Amino acid sequence: MEVKVNALMLRAADYNENDKILTLLTAEYGKLTAAVKGVKKATAKLKFAAQPFCFAEYVLAKSGDRYTVTGCTENGNFYDLRTDIMKFYAASAASEAAAALTFEGDDAHAIFYALLRAFTDMCSGDESFALIRFLTLALSQSGYAISFGNCPKCGKPLKDIDSLFFDIPSGAFICGDCGVGARASRVTYNVLLKANDRQYEEEYITPDGEKRALRLLREYFAEKVDARLPALSEFVRML
Ligand SMILES: [Zn+2]
Repeated sequence: MEVKVNALMLRAADYNENDKILTLLTAEYGKLTAAVKGVKKATAKLKFAAQPFCFAEYVLAKSGDRYTVTGCTENGNFYDLRTDIMKFYAASAASEAAAALTFEGDDAHAIFYALLRAFTDMCSGDESFALIRFLTLALSQSGYAISFGNCPKCGKPLKDIDSLFFDIPSGAFICGDCGVGARASRVTYNVLLKANDRQYEEEYITPDGEKRALRLLREYFAEKVDARLPALSEFVRML
């Protein structure tokens, strides 16, 4: 049986002498793995199908529950993600997170489209912000939405409070008077509000705020999802 999927290539692992096993995030069937044969040879026609961040229509031969790539037509070219080191790590971090938050056989179209948007935004603009937006959305889709509303302990609005905390187990920002969790800055809070398309205060959107927001997301991710994100750590370190 043959199936066609629109997919983003998340990961390529070496397999046999000349083959690779690809982890694909598809719009149609969620995450799946597919072998691509002979792709390590210099002349391989399907070499680009195993490139990082490849967005393409993959033709897959299905036998039992195994897939093999038999054809691939590129839909979009995220070339800039492979030539700029910061964009490369941001896109790698987003790919790692997408792989960790999706499961074979489960619908993942929201995360697929969010990742597609993140790659597009990373090519043309601020890769840190695009990564923050993607991580918060993907976490939210996976049942780990961050809570930005009033303080869950006392009900006070958080908008004008300088001293904030973030409680990792509940994923909520908390006022300084209630003081549960780790200290979080107002810039972190506002960067995350912006990334979630909520009302925010522009004066608190700073490059430092993006780094802090990514650190918070890394901690939160580590607590909620049993997966390491080495590219995210490397990206934060380079910022
Ligand atoms: Zn409170």
